[in-house]
Amino acid sequence: MKAGLVYDPIYLEHDTGDHVENSQRLVAAISYLKETGIKEKLSCLPSRPASLEELEMIHAPDYISYVKNKAEKGGGWLDPDTIMSPKSYEAALYAAGGLIGAVEAVMRGEVDNAFALVRPPGHHAIRDRAMGFCIFNNIAVAAKFALSKFNLNRILIADFDVHHGNGTQDAFYADPGVLYFSTHQYPFYPGTGWIDETGTGEGERTTVNCPMTAGWGDEEYLRTFNEVLVPVARRFQPQLILVSAGFDAHWADQLAMMRVSVKGFAQMVMILKELAAKLCQGRLIFTLEGGYNLQVVASSVKAVFDVLRGNLEIDDPLGKASMARKSEGFDEHIEAIKRIQHIS
Ligand SMILES: [Zn+2]
Repeated sequence: MKAGLVYDPIYLEHDTGDHVENSQRLVAAISYLKETGIKEKLSCLPSRPASLEELEMIHAPDYISYVKNKAEKGGGWLDPDTIMSPKSYEAALYAAGGLIGAVEAVMRGEVDNAFALVRPPGHHAIRDRAMGFCIFNNIAVAAKFALSKFNLNRILIADFDVHHGNGTQDAFYADPGVLYFSTHQYPFYPGTGWIDETGTGEGERTTVNCPMTAGWGDEEYLRTFNEVLVPVARRFQPQLILVSAGFDAHWADQLAMMRVSVKGFAQMVMILKELAAKLCQGRLIFTLEGGYNLQVVASSVKAVFDVLRGNLEIDDPLGKASMARKSEGFDEHIEAIKRIQHIS
């Protein structure tokens, strides 16, 4: 298997100071890939800035020029959580463009699958506003690009970041061509993503929200993947699978309260890989969203590449959560999701 890596030093120049979403996250991931000998086995994909035309498929032109002007004036806060530096606009263009490059490489068969290690992350960004450390919605831009450039009709976006990808959901809420599936801690930032948010109009039941109660872990995530994601993906028959990979559902993450392990993430990736193999010639692309514990991010990124390359021996240096397992309410909850999504 040939796995592609998107990375560019420009991503480090989105300088957020001592903010929890900082460049050390990528530095840690890349050094670990080098240290463990994985990096040299990956195909490095070139990155490029997204064009205005590409960004405008998702974002308002006025918002894009606002971000550009703010960067030119030295940066500052875009929302109470999202800060930018003079180079952030350029980094954000390359983050969306990097993921577009991964789509091109996978669709043209130059690599089997890919992981774009980009920042700033994207899944909270909405049409005319930055939110939750995100400036442009990289995965939404890449999905729109794939639909138009490669004449696709059906793309699955799976989002296992611990936060709900409200921006991605918004972008495709009425669009029957994109199935958005998300697992996320609930109630939690940004407040959206309850099970009854299922899409609208022609997009009805192409939004699948699986809110998770604080304390749930690998078992609950894997059951949700097997019992909800797998049947809805089979029904939808995607031609490409894009993944918002955040590693903040890990038990050691400092922002959230879930109990997923590195091995748990790897098993979720295996399910996605099997789905891609069965449904869309293996076309599977990951993009980095959140994840704030550096060791978790580094070992999870490596685990994703291990699975993508067909290595099933996963190292999990952090092991399982030491907190007691909690699963109260899960059975009733997953049955409610199945009912609302018409999964028999
Ligand atoms: Zn997150």
